[in-house]
Amino acid sequence: MKNYLLLLAAAVMLSCNTSTSSPADVAQDQMSQESKEPNFGIVLHGGAGTILKENMSDSMEQAYRQKLEEAIRTGHQILEEGGTAVEAVQRTINILEDSPLFNAGKGAVFTNEGTNELDASIMDGSDLNAGAVAGVTTVKNPIDLAIEVMRNSPHVMLAGKGAEEFAASVGTELVDPEYFYTESRFRSLQRIKESEKTQLDHDDQQAALTPWEYRDSKFGTVGAAALDRHGNLAAGTSTGGMTNKRWGRIGDAPIIGAGTYANNNTCAVSSTGWGEFFIRGVVAYDISALMEYKGLSLAEAAREVIQKKNPALGGDGGIVAIDKDGNIVMEFNTAGMYRASMNKKGDLQIGIYGE
Ligand code: ASP
Repeated sequence: MKNYLLLLAAAVMLSCNTSTSSPADVAQDQMSQESKEPNFGIVLHGGAGTILKENMSDSMEQAYRQKLEEAIRTGHQILEEGGTAVEAVQRTINILEDSPLFNAGKGAVFTNEGTNELDASIMDGSDLNAGAVAGVTTVKNPIDLAIEVMRNSPHVMLAGKGAEEFAASVGTELVDPEYFYTESRFRSLQRIKESEKTQLDHDDQQAALTPWEYRDSKFGTVGAAALDRHGNLAAGTSTGGMTNKRWGRIGDAPIIGAGTYANNNTCAVSSTGWGEFFIRGVVAYDISALMEYKGLSLAEAAREVIQKKNPALGGDGGIVAIDKDGNIVMEFNTAGMYRASMNKKGDLQIGIYGE
């Protein structure tokens, strides 16, 4: 009987409490409930460079914005439904690879020989597993092949013909190299080659091209970084490299630590920019290392590397990154960078210029 009375009293107290909760209490409860749910988010880039509003038509800008939004929403939905960071990064990059707007997959730039040689990499921050491919010519979505290398081979990086043999063996979609032909990219190659022909020495060669054209022969890569609901980070990058590249030139995009890095203890990073300087600066890993060893926040680490160390070396470009708590950074030292992000709450950010 005594127990019964005690229980009754507790129930009355509880019901009084609920009925007297103010709207502020309810909001507070909701907020603390939400903050207990695991964080997640995704961020992407579609290349950095001399991207200026005055050089962009309204319809072109609209086309870029739409594609960036489609890609980020695709990745975000995967995360929202409990999918993995690797899958979100892959599907987000696939959309950009399939668009002729970006220098990756379908829109890849041309080499000096008039071919398209594609590079990509992926890293899983949960176990530091990674995969990369370089110089492939028939793989429709190089990020898919990088994931196959990570999961289904004992290696981290495969290049050229061997990578394509591996692709065929694991069933990655292959296309005729013709698939990568786009008129605008081919014209860029012709323009660069023509001005090369008319110049006598290297310095004049650079002066002959409009500065943005020379510099931007190196830009346009795509990449993404994500944190999933399970607390795992991943990053991936995919590119056609730089227009007029030769001698089997490979940039930073397929180099783990330079173009791509992910570690559950720190952050996930994807780079874009003048690849040679991103390799020399080990940019993606450097950001993670500044967080791990120096205790910097992601924003501080990215600023240090992209605004100080990279330009001091002579390079330019940018990164997108997300840390283990879901903080997102889109840092660049060029005039613009195609970029988009979406956090757990579904806040969408899309940017192109240096606003
Ligand atoms: N980083 C790439 C490379 O050097 C180019 C880019 O970011 O657009 O190959």
